[in-house]
Amino acid sequence: MRILDTILWYLAAENCRHCLQKYAEPGLLLCAHCARQIFFFDPTQRCLTCGSLLKNGTCSFCLNREVFFSRAEFSFLYTAAGRTLLKEAKFHNSKRALAYLKTNLRLPNFLNQISYILPLPSSKGLAHFTANALQQHSSAQLLSGVFHLPRKKKDTKKLAQDERFSQLENLILSPKPAIPATSSIIIVDDIFTSGATLNRSARLVHEVWQVPREQIFCYALFRRDALREI
Ligand SMILES: [Zn+2]
Ligand SMILES: [Zn+2]
Repeated sequence: MRILDTILWYLAAENCRHCLQKYAEPGLLLCAHCARQIFFFDPTQRCLTCGSLLKNGTCSFCLNREVFFSRAEFSFLYTAAGRTLLKEAKFHNSKRALAYLKTNLRLPNFLNQISYILPLPSSKGLAHFTANALQQHSSAQLLSGVFHLPRKKKDTKKLAQDERFSQLENLILSPKPAIPATSSIIIVDDIFTSGATLNRSARLVHEVWQVPREQIFCYALFRRDALREI
């Protein structure tokens, strides 16, 4: 009987998506060990504007460019099992990964100041998912589809990541809707890597919609601190 139990357990148990070991709890995505390897963004000891890790007290991101948003915050770090979580949610559309992200979302401190939430276009819709999740915790209004990518002849579903990046360089912002001049805006993406995309989007909102920098905020579901970590 015990052997049969073991066989049944083995058949029911899934592999942890991160370490690929068999684990005993069907319904979860990660084993208990890997579940502890999901790290949240913590704004302490980071740049107050962009959230970069400070080196000798200075932020290389803000030092080296003009920043068009007043503050950026994040939910998870793209490191350890967090990487698996993002990939499962983004590329496999895993319901369990999406449910985990939604339930454990770390809300930005400035969320109650926000009037409008603007998701960036993303090939897998995770930026829109994140914007929706934020909206459920605030009275802000979701403005979908105001950022556009230039039209492409080819099937955009199969865009490589670098191709998407080059497309985002040409991001277009719709004309300003009738919103009060004092409105604060949050631009939402799924991952912040170099910060270039969110800063470019913030620049569009600042220059095209004439929104002061102090009223522009950014949020990404994940923050990637080390570029080499894949
Ligand atoms: Zn594991
Ligand atoms: Zn900074």
